[in-house]
Order: sequence, then C-alpha cells, then structure tokens
Amino acid sequence: MTRQRQLIYEIIMNTDAHMSADEIYQMAKSEMPSIALGTVYRNLRLMVEDKEIRQIASDFGPDRYDRNMIPHEHLHCENCGKLVDITLGGLKELLEARAEITVLDYQLNIRGLCSACKTKPKKIMYQ
Ligand SMILES: [Zn+2]
Ligand SMILES: [Zn+2]
Repeated sequence: MTRQRQLIYEIIMNTDAHMSADEIYQMAKSEMPSIALGTVYRNLRLMVEDKEIRQIASDFGPDRYDRNMIPHEHLHCENCGKLVDITLGGLKELLEARAEITVLDYQLNIRGLCSACKTKPKKIMYQ
C-alpha cells in the first residue's frame, strides 16, 4: 500500500463524518502537503473497488465516503448538513419479501432533521 493510500484510509477510518473527497483532500494535505487532489480521487476509487470503504451518492451534495461496510441507511440533516448513519435492520429482507426481488445492494438517503437538530429551535421550515 502506498503512503498516500494509507493516509487516506486512516483519515476515513478515524471519523464517522462521511467526508467528501474534497474534505478528505484538505485533511490529507495538512499531513502530506505534496498530495494531489487527483491522487485522493484515484485512491478513493480503488478503496471502493476493494470494498474497504463505501461511496455514498447524495442528491443533496457531493458523494461522501463511509467506513461502515455494514448495510445501513443515511439521514441527511437539512439543518446541520451532517450525514448520519441509521440502522433500520432487516430492510433488505423486507424489500425482498414485499417486492419479490433479490437485493444485491441498496442506498437509502433520507432527508430530514437529525436527533440533535430535531429538538433545537428550527432555522429552516417547510410548510
Ligand atoms: Zn442536524
Ligand atoms: Zn454511513
């Protein structure tokens, strides 16, 4: 494993923040100033292919990278912008039974308010 890949891997493994490639690049650069954005993108792609990390497509912003390989769902908080893990459990089985299909993989991105923001006075409001 290259030093660059090792560094990127550690950055992702040390947080549950679901960072974007750009955020990972900014952190990597503070450790290794010579690292290029293209190197970060290339290594992220390789790690996704090797199933070390998961890439999450988002309708609400750039793709994020996730260290958690266990099937789970995501809440995108409209208030603080965080992508939070939600584990419903059994959703794959439910889909397979209800829709009579075989699920190989899925991504479920929910838009709402996280548990911390839910209790705060709301800044944004939908009627
Ligand atoms: Zn929030
Ligand atoms: Zn996640």
